[in-house]
Amino acid sequence: MSSQTTTAEPPAPARKDPSLVLAHAAMASMLRQGLSPTPANYLVWFSYHGETEPGLRHALDASLDEGERIAQPRMDELHTQFFDPGHDGISLHEMSRRLESAVTEAVGLVNGARDAASRYGGTLREASDGLTDEPEALGAVLRRLVTETREVTRRSDAAGRRLAETAQKTQALQAELVEARRQATTDPLTGLANRRCFDEALSAALGEVASVPLALVIIDVDHFKSVNDTHGHHLGDDVLRLLAATLPQAIGTDALAARFGGEEFCVILRGTGLPEAARTAEDIRLRIAAASLALRQTGQRLSVTASLGLAVASAGETAGQLIERADAALYEAKRGGRNRLCTDPPLPKAGAVWG
Ligand code: GH3
Ligand code: MG
Ligand code: MG
Repeated sequence: MSSQTTTAEPPAPARKDPSLVLAHAAMASMLRQGLSPTPANYLVWFSYHGETEPGLRHALDASLDEGERIAQPRMDELHTQFFDPGHDGISLHEMSRRLESAVTEAVGLVNGARDAASRYGGTLREASDGLTDEPEALGAVLRRLVTETREVTRRSDAAGRRLAETAQKTQALQAELVEARRQATTDPLTGLANRRCFDEALSAALGEVASVPLALVIIDVDHFKSVNDTHGHHLGDDVLRLLAATLPQAIGTDALAARFGGEEFCVILRGTGLPEAARTAEDIRLRIAAASLALRQTGQRLSVTASLGLAVASAGETAGQLIERADAALYEAKRGGRNRLCTDPPLPKAGAVWG
C-alpha cells in the first residue's frame, strides 16, 4: 500500500506526465493554503503552476512574496478575472464550460480517493481496537482489512489514471481558451486589436481620464478604393497589413493600435497631452507614407497615404462623443487635401509641434 492511500494527497504520478505534475502541484497548493479543493480553486492553481496566464502568476506571486495566505475571496476574484467568460461570447463561454467540467471531474476524483482513504483510516482504527479486545475475531478483521485495502488501492489506481487524463484535458482546454481569447480580441487580417478590443480599451481609458490624459487618433487610408480597383483586393489587403505594421513602431507600450473597420485604424494614446499626441500621430502619418510594397508584375513600388483625425478627451465625455470629434477632425483632414493630420482642439499654430 502506498502512502497516498492513507493521506488526503492525490495519488502520485507514476511517470513525469507534465499535466499530471501540474494537477498535483495545484492540489498541493490548495492544501497548503487551507483552501477547499473546489473546481474554481483547482483551475486557478493549475494555471498558476502551468504559467499559462502571466497576469495570474504575477498576482499570486505578489501575495505569496508577502507571505500572505490566499483567502477564498481573493481566489474568487482571481477566478472571475481570469476564467469567467463574462462577455466573451458563446464560443468562449462553451470552452470555459468544458474546462470547468474537466476540472470538476478531476476534483471529484481526488475527493473520491480522499474519502475512500479516510474511510480506510477508520477501518484500520476499528481493526486495531478489535485486535486488542477480541483476539478470536482476528479472521473476520483481517478479511475486512484485505477487502478494504483492495478497494482503496483500486480506487486510488483508477483515480490516478483518470486524474492524469483529466489533467491532460485541462491543459489542452486551457491552451485552447488562451488562443480563443487572443482570437476574440485580434483582427485576423492585420493582427492588430479588433474593434471589440478597442471599444473595451477606450471605455476603460475614459474611466480614468481625470487622472490620465487620453487622445484618440483615427486613421483612414486615402483613395483606398482606387488601390483595390487598380491592383485588386488581395493587394489592397497587403497594403492594409503593411500599414498596420507601422503603427506599433510609432506608438508607446501604453498605447493601443486597433483596426477600426475597413481601411480605418485607430490609436488610443494615454498619458500624453495634445502636443505629444499630435507628434505621435504625425510620426504615424510619415511612417505610412514612407512604407511601400513591390508590385510583383512590374517591380514598381506602391505606397499609400493616410489622413488622420485626433481628439483629446475631456472629462465626462462618452466614447461615442470622442469618436465623433476624432472623425470630424479626420473629415477636415480629408477636405483639406488628405495626407495630413487635423486635431480637436486645433494645434496652436500649423506645424508648431513638429516643425
Ligand atoms: P478617402 O480618401 O475619401 O478615404 O477614399 P477611399 O477610397 O479610401 O474611401 P472609400 O470609403 O470610398 O473606400 C474605402 C474602400 O476600402 C472601399 C472598400 O472596398 C475598401 N475596403 C474596406 N475594407 C477592406 C479590406 O478589408 N480589404 C480591402 N482590400 N479593401 C477594403
Ligand atoms: Mg474610410
Ligand atoms: Mg479611405
